Amino acid sequence: MDELRNKAKELLTNGEIDLFIGYEEGTRIPRPIFVSTLEEAEKLVFNDKCTGNLAVYLTRKDLVGGKKVGIAASYYALKSICQLYDENQIKEHSIKIFGLVDNTLRPFNTINEIKEYLKEATPPEKQTDDELMAQIDAMTMEERWQFWTDELSKCFKCYACRAACPMCYCTKCIVEVNRPQWIQPWAATVSNIEWQINRVMHMAGRCSDCGSCGAACPLGLPVHILTHKMAQLVKENFGEASEKGNVLSTFKPEDKETFIL
Ligand code: SF4
Ligand code: SF4
Repeated sequence: MDELRNKAKELLTNGEIDLFIGYEEGTRIPRPIFVSTLEEAEKLVFNDKCTGNLAVYLTRKDLVGGKKVGIAASYYALKSICQLYDENQIKEHSIKIFGLVDNTLRPFNTINEIKEYLKEATPPEKQTDDELMAQIDAMTMEERWQFWTDELSKCFKCYACRAACPMCYCTKCIVEVNRPQWIQPWAATVSNIEWQINRVMHMAGRCSDCGSCGAACPLGLPVHILTHKMAQLVKENFGEASEKGNVLSTFKPEDKETFIL
């Protein structure tokens, strides 16, 4: 995509950015590339196969700290960028953001511009997810518990699902806290389930539904379906996400309290 390559080169040359986070060709699908030279900019690609959520790198101080950054953002990365902004993790105007809209490159100048675009935009199709969701939804509660117990018993706690997620930016994750120790650190079915329940609860109202957590799992465990379901339930019960904060840390006096006995 010459347009993106030329834009990145222009921004690097005139000093508007020091680093451009984008995609280059990978063995199966495009993979991330961190571009800081004109030669590296030649490798940039941007198309509908660029599905990894690059917003995950925007909170990595070792990569972006003190740098002026540009980014190629997919639909889901744009959602994550808005959420990171709402959580004060990135500053408006500090990043040059380029979205892929209808296969053309679209620069976004403000977070509000992105939010307005997202209101009208149709999320990219994820057929396999919809099919798996329908299968899981059709299960009885016992079958569903068995399904997730079987899947999560295979987890070996590599935390790739956490590393791939833009919203997992805590400097100390709950799984590493040992005073008190909330979650057993070793891989075992119960503690694996605890880990995923915690991960999913922390995503309530914040997850962009990008699916990167599931795509990152080396065992192919469909853990993104858990956050997908969470996003659906949040929408059904609380409506669209609030402008600031998330469903676990914001409330309105008129919120339903039927869960309190
Ligand atoms: S929890 Fe998974 S689907 Fe949600 S934002 Fe993080 S990586 Fe994406
Ligand atoms: S990426 Fe897969 S194996 Fe690794 S911690 Fe997450 S669910 Fe477990």
